[in-house]
Amino acid sequence: MKKLAALALAVGFTAFGLADAQAGMRYVTIGTGGVTGVYYPTGGAISKMVNKKRKEYNLRVTVESTGGSVFNVNAIMAGDLEFGVVQSDRQYQAWNGLKEWEGKPQKKLRSVFSVHPESVTLVAAVDSGIKTIYDLKGKVVNIGNPGSGQRGNSIDALEAAGIDWKTDLKAEGLKAAEAPGMLQDGRIDAFFYTVGHPSGAIKEATAGNRKVRFVPMPDEVIQKLTTKYPYYAPAVIPVEFYPGGTDKMDVPTFGVKATFVTSIDVPEDIVYAVTKEVFDNFDAFKKLHPAYKVLTKESMLQGLTAPLHPGAEKYFKEVGLIK
Ligand code: GLU
Repeated sequence: MKKLAALALAVGFTAFGLADAQAGMRYVTIGTGGVTGVYYPTGGAISKMVNKKRKEYNLRVTVESTGGSVFNVNAIMAGDLEFGVVQSDRQYQAWNGLKEWEGKPQKKLRSVFSVHPESVTLVAAVDSGIKTIYDLKGKVVNIGNPGSGQRGNSIDALEAAGIDWKTDLKAEGLKAAEAPGMLQDGRIDAFFYTVGHPSGAIKEATAGNRKVRFVPMPDEVIQKLTTKYPYYAPAVIPVEFYPGGTDKMDVPTFGVKATFVTSIDVPEDIVYAVTKEVFDNFDAFKKLHPAYKVLTKESMLQGLTAPLHPGAEKYFKEVGLIK
């Protein structure tokens, strides 16, 4: 039985691969984030829309789990990925040559559209005694892996709170997908994740035996950051999605937007096709993740710093979303 199933699977894949190859199929890949984030299902949602028409466009979109925003920008710039989901603050920094890209503006970066809002989410074990960001001093805290978008947000939040992340706490550099398990196992006290809601990672963190809470960002931290940086805005963590957590009211924090980006080197007709399939089938797209509930077509043109890719621009002009 097992052998037969394996054979059927192999034949299935081969037939599929051949059919694609025969049609002169072009393959593009979307870089996302950890599988329990919202970028990964977002890559899945976009690819689903486009792959329905793969014969028409001779285009097949695949999705890759990655280390997150910073990794995605760099992989797209290197030509290893064609598309990626990237935090709006990271897009701004890459385009302008700031932070990870200090002095090296990524001028080949292009915007396609923006997607869901993401909030800087600080999750702490109740038994760690962490109730405010100031209580993170002396604790073991995951601030995020170097390729992630959230690492920069964690450092900004800590700095704004007057906490030196290098000396005042034990900062871990774990990937977001690993943090919930580590928190539940008692190996870390808290973690930061900049993510849309609901996300699998935060569900996992709040659904275990170890009780966890969301730690609000103090007013002064939110004010400092939204005044200093153009890409931060006040945001909340909607607790309705996480009944396992101890919070009963939405938690104040700051946030950014998830954006969909590419390179100037990706052909216009490919970016046009991807944009068109998402926007022409907007209602179907919106149903693919609860984090998209707040989206409007107009909102999906906000939060972008790099110029629009000509393929996206062509579509938006055609439908009158831009002049
Ligand atoms: N915002 C995170 C990052 O840029 C990823 C969040 C997600 O995967 O949904 O790395």
